[in-house]
Amino acid sequence: MSDKFKPPPFNYCDYRCDRCDEKENCRVFRDDQERLLDHYRKGEDPYDPEIFMNDLKQIFSRTEKMIKKAAQEYGISLDSAENEEMPEVDPKEYVVYRLAYKYFEEANAFTKKLEKIGIPENARPDYDDLVWYHTLIAAKSGRLVSGFIDDFLDDEISTIEEEGTVSVIRKGIRLSKRALENMLGEFPDQLHAIAGLMEMLTQIEKQLESDLRQKK
Ligand code: SF4
Repeated sequence: MSDKFKPPPFNYCDYRCDRCDEKENCRVFRDDQERLLDHYRKGEDPYDPEIFMNDLKQIFSRTEKMIKKAAQEYGISLDSAENEEMPEVDPKEYVVYRLAYKYFEEANAFTKKLEKIGIPENARPDYDDLVWYHTLIAAKSGRLVSGFIDDFLDDEISTIEEEGTVSVIRKGIRLSKRALENMLGEFPDQLHAIAGLMEMLTQIEKQLESDLRQKK
């Protein structure tokens, strides 16, 4: 395997490969491109559900092998890990997740309203950002708080994981705010809703700064 390619980005990336500067160095992207090309060469449609599910099975099987190999290298016994009871996580216990989920609900309703009104072509990129990141912010916030009670990884790796997740949430917030600001020009009568969503994003940002682990 070439050293040129960075390790998979795990939770650090936002999966918007088309806009990503890391494409050239990203093994996830490279593997996916090869998967698509391979199907096209065979005259297959890679997005056919049956073909896609089959690819997914192979990806999981490869991942399982990689995990087992890594565990062996680090001296981790997966047999004992399998028998350990995983602690239950309720992400809603955490303020940051509740804020992110509330934003998800409000932004979701807003995007549906805009769909009904009609999205002008020049507002489409901002609308797409809004749609993409409202889900990602909530999902990554869930992942963030789930990691707080996960003692499977050592402290150093947990810290790297946490910082990566926080940075991708911040990126989602930044791009969502930019999208909302831009959309104001196209939807001036939605000022109230847009301002409300911006305020919610700011609250998530503040919570990330003040106390990630706060419960109430
Ligand atoms: S190329 Fe795609 S998978 Fe790789 S880091 Fe960028 S967005 Fe993530």
